[in-house]
Amino acid sequence: MPSPDYDVIIIGTGPAGLGAAFYLSEHSPSLSILMIDRERVCSGGLLNDCKQNYTYPIGFAVDNWSSAEAERLLPLVEKALRPVIKEKHNLEIYRRRAERLGVHLLDVRQAHVGTDLSRVLIQHLLDELTARGVRFLMEREVTDVRDDAGSSGVVLAGGERLHARTVIVAPGRKGFSFLQKVMERMGIAYIDNVVDVGIRIETQLENYPIVKDYYDPKFHFPDGVRTFCTNSGHARVVLERYQGFSLVNGHALSEHQAGNNLVNFALLKTIGLKAPVRSGQQMAVFLATLANEIGGGKPLMQRVGDFRMGKRSTAETFNEDLYAFPPSCPVTAGDLGLAVPAKIMRHIWAALKKLDTIVPGVLHPSTIMYYPEIKMYANKPVFLDNHFRVSTNTYMIGDGAGTSRGITGAWASGIRAAEGVLGVN
Ligand SMILES: Cc1cc2nc3c(=O)[nH]c(=O)nc-3n(C[C@H](O)[C@H](O)[C@H](O)COP(=O)(O)OP(=O)(O)OC[C@H]3O[C@@H](n4cnc5c(N)ncnc54)[C@H](O)[C@@H]3O)c2cc1C
Repeated sequence: MPSPDYDVIIIGTGPAGLGAAFYLSEHSPSLSILMIDRERVCSGGLLNDCKQNYTYPIGFAVDNWSSAEAERLLPLVEKALRPVIKEKHNLEIYRRRAERLGVHLLDVRQAHVGTDLSRVLIQHLLDELTARGVRFLMEREVTDVRDDAGSSGVVLAGGERLHARTVIVAPGRKGFSFLQKVMERMGIAYIDNVVDVGIRIETQLENYPIVKDYYDPKFHFPDGVRTFCTNSGHARVVLERYQGFSLVNGHALSEHQAGNNLVNFALLKTIGLKAPVRSGQQMAVFLATLANEIGGGKPLMQRVGDFRMGKRSTAETFNEDLYAFPPSCPVTAGDLGLAVPAKIMRHIWAALKKLDTIVPGVLHPSTIMYYPEIKMYANKPVFLDNHFRVSTNTYMIGDGAGTSRGITGAWASGIRAAEGVLGVN
């Protein structure tokens, strides 16, 4: 039996992996811990925008978390990330307007770092872990996880094997095919039946002034539609590239930077698939591929004014007259109606009309709708215990394993796995 190289190997330096590393290195300093990442710096929301939500259920996967469990761990997340919580104003006014329409406005404790300052936060977190003796192997891809009798560990691209007593797998959403491959090879049962499909809205600040009162307002509409990831100040829509297609997303710089007078946010609809559909991720790939095909290899964008008139947006008319601002992410001007499934578009449009009554202006003709914004929160393994253990010595956590949907939930998932490793109940 080979002696292990490390006590714990953590795959992924996103918030889930970091949460586990912080807890383990604090509560059991003698453990040897290695974190591996295929990127040079940890990616995802910690690097982009870095909004932190400290109120359950935002960022948590509710089928794996109770409010009490999340609230027990959120103070530990806060202790590590040291957020500056933002003030909110006039909530009752928006809330009253929302409730009249059957819409719920959540009151969420939030902090915002901004893309320009998130690297500083990440470096600070990595320095703290290094000082505690945690080792890092960056720009190395893990291709497999082993949990064979008497020998667990990981296989790196190129075939090198590293042995560990415990492996924590936290590869995020972009690691979904890696995770799926590992689960299939290890015989770990999983379900993959939920996907969030939606659009990203971009508009001028004066059309969505609520962001001055509440940085990332969380509205929950009927039919499973919600606002998600609002960015303002110096805000941009960005591309998230996958193999064969791109999705849209958004971020903003810190408040220290000059504003660009734009706001963006997503409106997502959660789809729970039932038999005989097999895979939410496959559905996501089909929808994203279709949209990118129609967009000539890029996502689509359409002005609300055109959408209302039932006509496509075109490159020639995209910035005409009432269409008063250029897109921050110039993709292909087109017709969302050709790409978004009718039921999803209907429910999102109904939500937008309600939002326009709560915050009048958001449906200005110039407002841009980008598609597709899709969240593949799938691959939910069948866990063996409350700590996200999937086999004798392996844990799977974070957005890739469906235990979280945001930075704070991912970090808390890491703590829960670490408690399992240390035998804390
Ligand atoms: C553009 C963008 C903006 C976002 N903004 C926010 C926000 O403001 N607030 C918020 O709460 N959430 C935000 N999110 C979501 C947030 O990023 C995720 O919820 C969170 O990062 C999930 O944490 P994680 O640790 O599970 O995965 P990740 O943060 O994705 O980390 C996974 C890590 O694993 C590595 N990895 C994957 N596969 C392998 C492999 N095979 N071998 C080695 N390494 C591997 C990846 O390189 C990555 O660094 C955003 C996401 C994106 C893409």
